[in-house]
Amino acid sequence: MVYAGGTDLLVKMQKGLVQADHLLCLERLNELKQIQDKKDEVFLGGLATHAQISAHPLVQKEFPVLGQALSKLGSPLIRHMGTLGGNLITASPAGDALPPLYALQAQVEILSADSSRRVNLKDLITGPGQVSLQDREILAGVWIAKAPEFNLHHFEKVGQRQALAIAIASLAALIQVNPGGVIEKARLAWGSVGPTVVASAQVNRFLEGRPLDISTLKQAADLARQEVSPIDDIRASAAYRREVAGNLVLRLAQYS
Ligand SMILES: Cc1cc2nc3c(=O)[nH]c(=O)nc-3n(C[C@H](O)[C@H](O)[C@H](O)COP(=O)(O)OP(=O)(O)OC[C@H]3O[C@@H](n4cnc5c(N)ncnc54)[C@H](O)[C@@H]3O)c2cc1C
Repeated sequence: MVYAGGTDLLVKMQKGLVQADHLLCLERLNELKQIQDKKDEVFLGGLATHAQISAHPLVQKEFPVLGQALSKLGSPLIRHMGTLGGNLITASPAGDALPPLYALQAQVEILSADSSRRVNLKDLITGPGQVSLQDREILAGVWIAKAPEFNLHHFEKVGQRQALAIAIASLAALIQVNPGGVIEKARLAWGSVGPTVVASAQVNRFLEGRPLDISTLKQAADLARQEVSPIDDIRASAAYRREVAGNLVLRLAQYS
């Protein structure tokens, strides 16, 4: 089994949840640690750490929503060891890298000894903890198209405490608002309120063409509560998660 930072896999092995006869650490594959400007796209290496990505000027300029999410993931220790690839392959519904990358419509590059393929991130993740990676494939990195039209990037996570908290619900939002305050384009994605990230085309369509104000957001929040499919677990009830998924939309009122 391969691993990168080990912040997920080694914890599971210690708890006896995963067994592996042999471990192969990818840590020294320097090519896959890089963050590169590729003209209309940006490549984030699968082995880049959360700390490295959130502090990178290119990410801060092009994808603040991702920087915001990764700067709140876990603790400084986890952010310096944990990698983007590890977060995506873990495919937890609460994985903090996922909602911003769904909103950004990211693609992933998958590598084997003799081939390379690109797939949409949403097609990589097939269920909670499940990915469509084949045997002997690794995640090389993430490709994100620059989208300068979105002038509002927002990420918020609600957990049981302010720091070192797994999300009870989270929201990544990319919004293009025109000078008249009308939403021209919206891409919202929620974490921890479904088996995988919930990205609702219906909520996006509802927002587009409407003013960014509390009345619009209240209606979008109601719609969002219908779109999500949370479960009860040790951190929160499904009903609470549904309520919070809508409340997170109301927070966008701060930009009106
Ligand atoms: C105390 C603590 C707090 C945490 N807090 C958060 C949090 O707030 N938010 C959050 O989202 N996560 C959190 N995590 C989970 C974890 O730290 C992250 O998911 C992290 O990004 C995992 O990255 P890693 O490199 O350490 O993964 P690893 O543990 O190295 O690997 C995880 C899985 O991915 C596979 N893998 C890793 N890299 C690749 C690759 N390039 N190609 C193919 N397969 C690969 C491994 O085989 C394994 O199955 C926390 C963990 C701990 C221990």
